[in-house]
Amino acid sequence: MPTNELKMNPLKNQRKHLKSHSKKLSFALIGNPNCGKTTLFNQLTGSRQYVGNWPGVTVEKKEGNLKLYNTDINIIDLPGIYSLSPYSSEEIITRNCLIREKVDLIINIVDATNIERNLYLTTQLMELGLPMVIVLNMTDLLEKKGDTIDYEFLKQVLNIPVVPISANKGIGINELLKLSLDFAKKHKELKVKNIYSKDIDKILNSIENVLNETTNKININNRWVAIKLFEDDILVLKSIKLTKLQEEKISKYKNMVQLSKHVDRQMLLADARYKYICSICKIAVHKKNDHNIMTLTDKIDRVVTNKFLALPIFFALILLIFYTTFGPIGIFLKDQTNFLINNIFGNLVLNTLNILGASEWTKSLIVGGIIEGVGSVISFLPQITILFTLLSILEDSGYMARAAFITDKLLRRVGLSGRAFVPLLMGFGCSVPAILGTRILERENEKKLAILMVPFMSCSAKMPVYSMFIAAFFSKNQPFIIFSIYIIGILAAIFTTLIFKRKLLKGTSSSFIMELPEYKLPTIKNLTLHVWERVRDFLVKAGTVLLGAAIIIWFLQSFDTTLHLIEDSSQSILAAIGTRIAPIFTICGFNDWRASVSLLCGLVAKESVVSTMAVLYNTGSGIDLATNISQNFSALSAFSFMTFVLLYTPCIAAVSAIKKETKSILWTCFIVFYQLFIAWFFSACVFQFGNLFLNFAKF
Ligand code: GDP
Ligand code: MG
Repeated sequence: MPTNELKMNPLKNQRKHLKSHSKKLSFALIGNPNCGKTTLFNQLTGSRQYVGNWPGVTVEKKEGNLKLYNTDINIIDLPGIYSLSPYSSEEIITRNCLIREKVDLIINIVDATNIERNLYLTTQLMELGLPMVIVLNMTDLLEKKGDTIDYEFLKQVLNIPVVPISANKGIGINELLKLSLDFAKKHKELKVKNIYSKDIDKILNSIENVLNETTNKININNRWVAIKLFEDDILVLKSIKLTKLQEEKISKYKNMVQLSKHVDRQMLLADARYKYICSICKIAVHKKNDHNIMTLTDKIDRVVTNKFLALPIFFALILLIFYTTFGPIGIFLKDQTNFLINNIFGNLVLNTLNILGASEWTKSLIVGGIIEGVGSVISFLPQITILFTLLSILEDSGYMARAAFITDKLLRRVGLSGRAFVPLLMGFGCSVPAILGTRILERENEKKLAILMVPFMSCSAKMPVYSMFIAAFFSKNQPFIIFSIYIIGILAAIFTTLIFKRKLLKGTSSSFIMELPEYKLPTIKNLTLHVWERVRDFLVKAGTVLLGAAIIIWFLQSFDTTLHLIEDSSQSILAAIGTRIAPIFTICGFNDWRASVSLLCGLVAKESVVSTMAVLYNTGSGIDLATNISQNFSALSAFSFMTFVLLYTPCIAAVSAIKKETKSILWTCFIVFYQLFIAWFFSACVFQFGNLFLNFAKF
């Protein structure tokens, strides 16, 4: 991390103290979803974790290092949570990390613009008794709103250090680091403030006393355990061993509270916490605007999340994105890049090779294999950049969180919770993080179902395939063709839930709480980071996997089974393999060995479909790929081919992610075959029904 931290704040009086404790410290960042944990993590560790504007982006803990005054500090970024009750897997991950891994300091991040709700978690963290500092983030937004918070008062009443910061602007970070280090070194445990009524407090004290009798203590504050036992937290109960006598005593104490009909003990405590927070905020927070005044965000939301307008606006935005990406602008940029790579660069290389007197097969490998293959994929880079820039703008501005909210109802209809929206949406980028992201789903079966659905969300690697066919056949109505492809993917996903819902999902779907962040202008920094991540992945893939695949494909299509260089690729090894597979696709309308081989290569990486086609359909006569393709497909068979690419088994990386998440080879194999079948089935339907329709139209 920032060397300027080291120059400033000499912390002289601390140094001696620090030297005697040169062990590594660990600080955990904890807070509600979307409060800026990852932004702060990136600031502190100089790393570039994904910062998103919706919950569920950080699903597992991430660690980073920071060296400050000779002390190594391990910073842990944890998933956002609303409470320490084990409702969801993130809450369990976070809680376990705190209890088992003995962090030296909790850095509790509180969104200052939403302080009342955020402090709920703070009250629970306080009960853990671990050293803690509170970070009030987003103070820049607070200032903009004109609200103020009395930090001194908060500090005193909570008895915890409070540091105001703005994580994305880098304000207050030095102060925070200095204070955190100081505090962690002192191992200052928190004195728990009393939040509950006298009666409840008495009961909690009695339970705590019973726990104090236990000899094999767990590592955690008995007060916290007492509270959890009072709340009937099964996980805590399981993890401590109580004697029969202790159990009886605790149960006696627990039953001392009078509960009215619809209230359980957990709600009783929650209510007390909220009352406590309310009393603090009344004094500490001064709002400039009354709640009744509509903010800009409220005004936008009135339209965007309106009952009738929400879905049309959502689809209109998606169409607009497709139009920009695949329409005239995208195509123009693609053609320019293509010209640059194939014509200018390709010719330059060819001329150089001629001058050097390279052999025919070297020229064929480098120009016809590598440049043609890899170049055909790289020419889609501008379109990928446009797509991700637009998606990132929607995400950063706060619209995507609304989209999750809008689609929640639709997802509920198919039996999933709105939580599944996040991984499904990520699937449009890349299936790998999306599959890992299904971890935020609470129930194991819901997760399996989402994993089955994610690959049907057309990932960006498939885009070059569509783009190529669109250029060849559908140049008049590109956005609609693309839209229909994406819709077919979504339909296949819904079809899948309908089949498996009964088997996998019994009972109601789990709840989904999601806050809607305020709208804001996306920052250039965040945009470039998001887009660069995709572009880099794409380029790395092009330089490694696709390059390798292009060389192998060139080899297999240039030699026959007796390893003789051939002129006509239909005599090649590849053709021998392809002709075996091709008949399966007769019903889908593309019984061509080159198409089959391209699909086979697509199993490695979807972009490989295009690079393989570029090599195989290259007649060497200077005709561009789109024209070559249009001579070998009909519009209908092209659409059926696109459908197959959309739905069939995702790439190797995604399959291994599926294996990782399901932890079952059987499931993984099942998913792979299921997707192959669905792809074949849908693509056959498209071709057969399409044909029927065309014949009918002729009459
Ligand atoms: P996490 O879910 O807690 O990890 O939150 P993120 O770090 O992903 O941030 C959520 C959103 O808040 C992102 O859009 C950030 O750019 C934004 N954000 C984070 N810190 C600040 C801040 O100090 N001020 C403002 N205005 N926005 C912030
Ligand atoms: Mg995060």
